[in-house]
Amino acid sequence: MDPKANCGLCLRLRGYRTRLKRAQPDWHNAPVANFGPANAQLLVVGLAPGLKGGNRTGIPFQGDFSGELLSRALVENGFASYLDCQEPSLGIEPTNVMITNVVRCLPPDNKPNGVEVQNCLPFLGKTLSQCYRLRAVVAIGRVAYDNTLKSYGISVRAEPFAHNKQVVLPDGRQLFATYHCSRYNVNTGRITEEEFCGVFKDVAGYLQSLVNG
Ligand code: SF4
Repeated sequence: MDPKANCGLCLRLRGYRTRLKRAQPDWHNAPVANFGPANAQLLVVGLAPGLKGGNRTGIPFQGDFSGELLSRALVENGFASYLDCQEPSLGIEPTNVMITNVVRCLPPDNKPNGVEVQNCLPFLGKTLSQCYRLRAVVAIGRVAYDNTLKSYGISVRAEPFAHNKQVVLPDGRQLFATYHCSRYNVNTGRITEEEFCGVFKDVAGYLQSLVNG
């Protein structure tokens, strides 16, 4: 489920959107809706739209460095296809994945505050309940991981974040955690492209193991 295009629950973020609209009238500059089919088996949860990613294009994880890396991982592992194989930058068609963010509006410096996370979290909860075929969730980064656990009422202290961590959720879905695929994390060596794609390979293997019984 998505917030209304004019959602104003977070005054700071609404003000930021409005200022950006004046500076960049051709950009989306509004809450970014879920992207993907409701019958997807995989949900990808990020932190918030990037300035030139979701906030510009209106599609989560499309149009910036993180989006390119996620798109590659999804296509390589059969969750999406490129609109044009010769031009990956044109974007993807998600076939078995829904992509969302904990916070739907662009936060200054990519840092939402606690109240903003709290305001937006019900939309993640509703997305989790509306994706009726969901079997796996990939949380990109600690905030996405912590708040996915929170949506299930699981204590973060009981299951602290770690890259490659997997948690069985109360409804039987499997949560996979990864470091964020930001340019900063890749450039500083916190995560490599191979390691990031490896998480999605694990998810694909997990889904296949359900089919095989
Ligand atoms: S972050 Fe979420 S709750 Fe806050 S204004 Fe945007 S859509 Fe509304």
